[in-house]
Amino acid sequence: MPAPGELTLEAPRRGRPPAHLADLDMAGRREAMTDLGLPAFRADQASRHYFGRLETDASTWSDLSPADRDTVAQALLPDLLTPVRELSCDDGATVKVLWKLHDGSRVESVLMGYRDRVTMCVSSQAGCGMNCPFCATGQAGLTRNLSTAEIVGQVIAGSRLVRSGEFPGSRDRVSNVVFMGMGEPLANYRALMGAIHRMVDPVPEGLGMSARGITVSTVGLVPRMRELATEGLPLRLAVSLHAPDDELRDTLVPINTRYPVTEVLDAAWHYADTTGRRVSIEYALIRDVNDQRWRAELLAKRLRGHLVHVNLIPLNPTPGSAWTASDPDDERAFVRALEGAGVPVTVRDTRGREIDGACGQLAAATP
Ligand code: SAH
Repeated sequence: MPAPGELTLEAPRRGRPPAHLADLDMAGRREAMTDLGLPAFRADQASRHYFGRLETDASTWSDLSPADRDTVAQALLPDLLTPVRELSCDDGATVKVLWKLHDGSRVESVLMGYRDRVTMCVSSQAGCGMNCPFCATGQAGLTRNLSTAEIVGQVIAGSRLVRSGEFPGSRDRVSNVVFMGMGEPLANYRALMGAIHRMVDPVPEGLGMSARGITVSTVGLVPRMRELATEGLPLRLAVSLHAPDDELRDTLVPINTRYPVTEVLDAAWHYADTTGRRVSIEYALIRDVNDQRWRAELLAKRLRGHLVHVNLIPLNPTPGSAWTASDPDDERAFVRALEGAGVPVTVRDTRGREIDGACGQLAAATP
C-alpha cells in the first residue's frame, strides 16, 4: 500500500475480488454458463433475476433446477459486499452504509431520498490516491480499485433496500447514481465503465437506468475525461475544481501539477461539446483559502460562455483539518459574483453531515 500523502494513479492489484456475474456483459455470461457445463440460455435467466428483479440469491430462481442454481451461485455469485454498519439521519431519508469487501477492505455508500428521486453516492475505489488535503478519504491513501461487480453491487443493494420499504420516498429503486463516494472513478476506468454499462444497459443485460441520471465526478484526469467523451453515453460529468488558479489548485488538488486548470477546463468543454451535457464544476468553499471575491471573479471569467453550472459545496469538516466552511456572507458574495457574470450556480445541501456521510467525509473508519 502506498504511504499516505503519496499521489497514486496505479492501484495495487492485490486482493482482487473473485469473479461475479455482474462483472460480465451478456456475451461473457453466456460463455461463463457454457464453461460451467450449463446451457447458454441460463445467462438470460440469471440476468432477468439479478438485474431485472434484483433477486441476488439464486435459491429463489425457481426456473432453474436446484443443482444448476447451486452451480451458478458457487461460481458466479460470491458475497462481495457485506454490510458492517448502517447509519441514518434526516428521518431515515439519508442512509450511509459501510461495506466490508472480501479482503477486509472497507468502502462506504450513501443513499439519499428526495421527493422525486433516490440518489446513491457510490465508491469506485477503496481509499483514494489523489491526496486532496481537505478530503478525509484522501488522507488514508489508496488501498485498491473496486471491481465492476463491487461498484454495481452497491447500487443493487441500495435498490433492494429502497424496495424493501425500509427507506422513505416515492421511488422503489435507486434512480440516480453519483460517483462521489470514495475514490477517483476515472483512475479505475475499465471497472467504472463496466459498472456504468451494467446500470444503463436495458434489462436483462443491465438495470435499465438512465445515463443522464449518472454523474461521474473527477479531480480532472484529462486523458480519461477525453476518453469518457467517446463512450457515446450522456453521462453527467462533474469536475472538482476548487480553485480557478494553478497556484492554489496545486495545493488543494495535487494532480493539478500534472493536469493544470486550463487543460482540465479544455477537456470539460470538449466533453460538453461532444455530449451536449452541461458540465458541473464542484467548488468546496474553504474559509479564507479559496473564497475571496477576486477568485470568484477569476472563476467566472474562466467559465463564462460555456455549457456549465457551478456547484458550491460548503466545506464539510474532516478530522485533523483546521479548515472550515466559508463565512455565510463570503459564500453569498461568491454566489453573487458568479451570478453577476451570468454563470449558473447552486449551493449543495450538506446531506449526511451528521453521520460523516457528506462529501469528503467518507473514510471507512472501523467502529
Ligand atoms: N475523486 C472524485 C470523487 C469524490 S469526492 C472527485 O474528486 O471529484 C466528491 C466531491 O466532494 C469532490 O468534488 C470533492 O472535492 C468534494 N469534497 C471532498 N472533501 C470535501 C469536504 N471536506 N467538504 C466538501 N466537499 C468535499
